[in-house]
Amino acid sequence: MNIYLAVIIASLLLSWLLGILSDHLSAKAMKPTPPKEFQDVFDAAKYAQSQEYTRASMHFSTLTGTFNIVVIIAVILSGGFNWLDMLIRSLAFGPMATGLLYIGALGLISGVMSLPFEAYQTFVLENRFGFNTTTPGTFFLDRFKGMILTALIGGILVAGVLLFFRETGPFAWLWCWGLAVTVSLALTYVAPTWILPLFNTFSPLEEGELRTALERYADKNGFELSGIFVMDGSKRSTKGNAFFTGLGNRKRIALFDTLIKEQTTEEIVAVLAHEVGHAKLGHIRKRLITGFLKTGAVFYLMSLFLDSPGLFAAFGMEHISNYAGLTFFVLLYTPLSLALSVLSNMVSRKHEFEADAFAAHTTCDPMSMISALKKLSASNLSNLTPHPLTVCLEYSHPPVLARVRRLAAI
Ligand SMILES: [Zn+2]
Repeated sequence: MNIYLAVIIASLLLSWLLGILSDHLSAKAMKPTPPKEFQDVFDAAKYAQSQEYTRASMHFSTLTGTFNIVVIIAVILSGGFNWLDMLIRSLAFGPMATGLLYIGALGLISGVMSLPFEAYQTFVLENRFGFNTTTPGTFFLDRFKGMILTALIGGILVAGVLLFFRETGPFAWLWCWGLAVTVSLALTYVAPTWILPLFNTFSPLEEGELRTALERYADKNGFELSGIFVMDGSKRSTKGNAFFTGLGNRKRIALFDTLIKEQTTEEIVAVLAHEVGHAKLGHIRKRLITGFLKTGAVFYLMSLFLDSPGLFAAFGMEHISNYAGLTFFVLLYTPLSLALSVLSNMVSRKHEFEADAFAAHTTCDPMSMISALKKLSASNLSNLTPHPLTVCLEYSHPPVLARVRRLAAI
């Protein structure tokens, strides 16, 4: 058997099996009553509902995972990638247009295939637990806008990568890296003003007790906020959240309207303090830099495999091309990507603990951070007792119980 084919199929199966094992262990780790720290926000009915939601989400992810792996293995083994290549080559466009069409067609096919699953998740699963507020109009408009943005930004990136690998010889990966970093910095820069408003409305937080308290916190801790905005998160879901956007001193904070509705002023100050913690402790900078290093490494690895005849034989290809090589590399990269995401989740969980501690110390009020986390987990029906394997594979944030216990120790 072709070694590339063996590695790709084995790693796809491994990541699918790990997912199923992790769900199974987390289902077994469920307890009949909530941990004592959470008994004031989860009554028996709410706790049962949170477990039912966890189980339903697991079943859904098993279903989509199984569908995806069956389709991808069937397409690989039946020579589907070569069939598509021959079809697009028969249109006799130039090499660049052929490459863009090939990758665009694959993206479009996978987008269309995932559409029924996304619709089910939004309108059936999330709806059943009272989270969904998305209208069919918003749902389709979101996908449409997403598709245009992906075509534009993805098109620029793919065209650049194909061009560099064709024209710039052994250092092509360096050029690709430069392009990817430039595009990603530009996107971060324009996201708050050009991209996010395509999907949500951001309005400045009105004058009042909350605004004064948030500004007082930022001032006291020497943090320059270029704006506090309220985002209409309620347009899609009842779940609450908050996040920073923008770069450097153009940073703004966006609070979901659903968060403001449910939390007290002290709790929202604690949420802001946690986000400020990420900035002050250098987490945002570290994440950006490791992201860039990882991108560079991926392009370097890609350059090693891009025209390897064995890789093309694995997919039954009649022609060797950069664009198909790029596609196959993404599949070959599966095991490394899995390992890297476990590692980056681990670092991210450590950062979350640090940002919680920062918030507790700078507000001198760990109790508000605790109650903010507890309220969020109750309204989002979070799983309070995930199995360590699930945490290791999927959690970028520590389980909320561990966060609350660490804060209580402060
Ligand atoms: Zn955080």
